[in-house]
Amino acid sequence: MNNIKTRFAPSPTGYLHIGGARTALFSYVYAKHFGGKFVLRIEDTDFERSTKEFEADIMDSLKWLSIMPDEDIVYQSQRLDIYKSYVDRLLKEGKAYYCFCSKELLEEDRSRLASEGKKPMYVGRCLNLKPDEIDLSKPHVIRFKVERGQGLTTGFKDLIRNQFVSFNNNEIDDFVLVREDGIPTYNFAVVIDDALMEITHIIRGDDHVSNTPKQIMLYGALGFKIPEFAHVSMILGQDGKRLSKRHGATSVNQYKKEGFLPEALVNYLIRLGWSHGNDEIFSMDEIIRYFDLKNISKSAAIFNIEKLLWLNSHYIKSKDPFDIINLLNDIKASSEKPLINDIQTVSLIDSLKSRVKTLAEFRQKLNFFINEELGYKAELLSEFNFNEGDLFFLQEFKTFIGSLPDTIFNYKGGLNDKTGIINFIKNSIESIKQEFNNFLSRNNWTMKEKAMIIRLALTGERVSPPIFEIIFALGKIRCIKRVTEFYEFINL
Ligand code: GLU
Repeated sequence: MNNIKTRFAPSPTGYLHIGGARTALFSYVYAKHFGGKFVLRIEDTDFERSTKEFEADIMDSLKWLSIMPDEDIVYQSQRLDIYKSYVDRLLKEGKAYYCFCSKELLEEDRSRLASEGKKPMYVGRCLNLKPDEIDLSKPHVIRFKVERGQGLTTGFKDLIRNQFVSFNNNEIDDFVLVREDGIPTYNFAVVIDDALMEITHIIRGDDHVSNTPKQIMLYGALGFKIPEFAHVSMILGQDGKRLSKRHGATSVNQYKKEGFLPEALVNYLIRLGWSHGNDEIFSMDEIIRYFDLKNISKSAAIFNIEKLLWLNSHYIKSKDPFDIINLLNDIKASSEKPLINDIQTVSLIDSLKSRVKTLAEFRQKLNFFINEELGYKAELLSEFNFNEGDLFFLQEFKTFIGSLPDTIFNYKGGLNDKTGIINFIKNSIESIKQEFNNFLSRNNWTMKEKAMIIRLALTGERVSPPIFEIIFALGKIRCIKRVTEFYEFINL
């Protein structure tokens, strides 16, 4: 297919939601798959609810996900003159009309029709006003004149449902094109923009299915080429209800803050409804290569945080420790110390990266390393009932640490030699392990007996990365300081 152009058209009335991000992603990869263009339009004509903050959040989130538009961003608020010229044309051609009915009158009509068991629709009171009945100094809206008649229908082939969706024109209201305040409605502006921006495929949430016939009528009335439509089903929570804050984080930014990687979210979102065989892991390039609307499920997708966590841990694991340091520093609170790109940090990151599911958890697991003071918890004393033997062990262990050759810890190579660093760390940890095993066997101790007290002394926690890795990361001085502090703590 040639000249494919898709768009994402968010209203900046809220943060970028997971559902919106998925629609944007589908639109983006569809265009890219065919070598086409993807554009972004900010639908900011709801002046009361739209904010610059939401707009910035949407843009930042899309950028973070690498969903970048190919052209300058279009703002509906800057195009009011364009909409005006088209509505003038529809009025002139008798395809739209002024309506002076008050809200109260419309409300009365609606309740009367409802009480008669009829669909509440505009009754057409202003459809055929005479010129002298039109006083534009009075409050008014502009309505579209829907063509009605026996058997007249408007429909479209939905590319996801893969079927023709048809509506009876008699069921469609003479919908409003321009509101009383002169601002065009969504259904009107969206058609003008999609047509003028030459959008070929409109991919959006299925909450817009009922708007589509109205938009198609407008395309027809203005002589515009009708694009293709694809309506994506909703995302539901595990309980089968529409995904909302009750189910946890719903905004992309929240996931970023909680330490999810954009690659994981993109991979997760694309699989939320789309499949390619039984594959689960997809890079953006692979998604673009394989994406097809035909393989999007027609039924609603269920959001599953466990799967997202699984993907996130996959992407964390596959990252270089140097990149992880940067990512962890990106999400740190301003009061927290940044991680330094040194060999100790790299070693610990490398050891922990296969054990965490999010960057936030990662950062938390590094606390013992980042913080100078551990502040041992008093409950450890009652839980472990330390005795003289433990005190003796700690003294011996301290001497052992002091006896480790400095060459194990001091890397002499360059910091740019990533392979050299990783090999040095591996060899050092292996040496510590051997020395430690000798130390234990010399004293007839076993790892099983002594692992916990070392872990507690060096990290303050019951669970930690392997001991040799901690010893290497903390280095001799910090290890000795901690063992001394722990000795004093249990020797109260
Ligand atoms: N601004 C609309 C929304 O956020 C766009 C819908 C569409 O894609 O046509 O729902």
